[in-house]
Amino acid sequence: MPDSSPKLPWHSIPSSGATCKVHLMQAGGLYIPSDMVLLPSPDTSNSASDSNGSSDKPNPFYAPDYVFLIEHTASGNNYIFDLGMRKDLENLPPILVKEALPNFQCEAKSPADILKEHGSPDQQPEKAKAVIFSHMHFDHVGDGAKAGFEKAEVWLGPTCCTYARPGYPVDENAPTLSETLPVDGSRKIVESYIPDDVLREAGDKRAGQVMQAMTKNKYAAVDLRKREWFALGAFERAYDVFGDGAAYLIDAPGHSPGHQMMLLRTTSHASTNSEDTFVLLAGDCFHHKELLNDPTRTARPPYAKAGMHADPEQAIDTMYRTREFERKENVWVIGAHDPSVGNGPRPGEKLIDGLVELNAWFEMGWKKALSHTPYPYRLPVPLTVFNSPPGSKHSPASHRTRRSKWRMRMVPSEFCASAHGAHAKLLRRIKFRNV
Ligand SMILES: [Zn+2]
Repeated sequence: MPDSSPKLPWHSIPSSGATCKVHLMQAGGLYIPSDMVLLPSPDTSNSASDSNGSSDKPNPFYAPDYVFLIEHTASGNNYIFDLGMRKDLENLPPILVKEALPNFQCEAKSPADILKEHGSPDQQPEKAKAVIFSHMHFDHVGDGAKAGFEKAEVWLGPTCCTYARPGYPVDENAPTLSETLPVDGSRKIVESYIPDDVLREAGDKRAGQVMQAMTKNKYAAVDLRKREWFALGAFERAYDVFGDGAAYLIDAPGHSPGHQMMLLRTTSHASTNSEDTFVLLAGDCFHHKELLNDPTRTARPPYAKAGMHADPEQAIDTMYRTREFERKENVWVIGAHDPSVGNGPRPGEKLIDGLVELNAWFEMGWKKALSHTPYPYRLPVPLTVFNSPPGSKHSPASHRTRRSKWRMRMVPSEFCASAHGAHAKLLRRIKFRNV
C-alpha cells in the first residue's frame, strides 16, 4: 500500500549546553476503553461502532497518568508538567461526574504527596515556580494546583482560556472548574500567545479566537506570553522557554484547545561530536504508542462512536509531527498515558513509586522501539454496558462513598447511542474528550 504519510520538513533543534533534569512521577492511572483509542486498521470501523449499545464491550486498558518534575539546571528553578487527577473526583464539574467519569475507572495519586514522601527538600511542591499544563482535562490538572502548589504560576498553551473559561459553576455545563483559573488575580496565569496574523497566514482556524474570547471576559487576569515562535523538528511553532535552549514549549493542537508539548534537553554534548539527548513530553497527543506507527488508526467518528480528540484531523496531523521526533534515536517521546514509558525504567510495574530521573534514558536503553505493543493491563472483567439498578453495589450512590477510586459505573443509556443518534452531539462534546 502506498505510504500516504505527509512529507514533513525537519527543523534542527538548536545546539546548546543547557539542560533540564527531568523526573517522572506516576500520578495513578485510569482505565480507558480501547475502542475509543485505536482502530483495528487504518480508517476502519471498530467493533463498537458496528454494534449497537447493548452489546458494546469497550474492553478498557490501563493508562498510567504521568507527571514530571523539571529542574532547570542553570537557574535551579523547578517546574511541574501536569498534575494528574484530583483524588476527590466527586468535586469535578457535575457534567464530568455524571457523563464522563462513568466511562473510566480512575485511580488517582497526588504528585504533591509523591514529592512530600520521596522528594528532596529542593523538590518539595512549594518550591515549584510554575505548573505547566499540557491541557486542561481533568486527568491533567489535578486539584487545580491547590495543595502544595498554591504559589506556583500556571502556564497554559495557546487559546487554552477560550476553552477553560469561564468554567463551572459560572457555566453550569462547563467541563473545567472556574477556581482553577481565578479571574481575581490571586494566581499568576500565563498563556502562550500566537499572533493572529501568524495563525491566519498558516490557515489556522484559531486565528481571532483569543481576541473574540477577550470580548467575553475570558482573559481577565491572564498574562499573554508573546514570544518568538520558530519551527522546531516537524512542528511549525515552538519557543525557547528559558532562553538558553534547555527547554522548548511546542504548540501541538488537536487533542484539546491549548494542548502543548515540552521538549527538554536531557544531556548536552556541545563540546563533542556526540548528539544531545531529549525527552518530548507529548501530553495527550496519543493514547497508545501504536498510533505513532500509524496515526490513521486513531479512533474517531465515523469509524468509532467517539474518540479522544476534540479535533481528530488536527490531532492526527500533530501525531505525524510527533512521529518525526520518535524516529530520532536521541529523542524519547513520552505520552502522558503511554505504559511503554514506565516499562523502560521499571519493567512490569503497573504503578511506579516515587521519582524516576530520566536524564540517562539513552544509556539505559529505556526507549523501546515502536512495535505492536499490547495493552499490558486490562480490567479483569471487561466493561459491559448496562444500567445499574438503584442501590446496587455499582450504583452512583455507592461510588460517591469512595473518594479516590472510582469503579467503572454502568454506562448510562445515552452513551449507547450511535454517533448518528439523538445523543451524538452530547457524546461529541463530552465523552472521552476530557481525558
Ligand atoms: Zn489525558
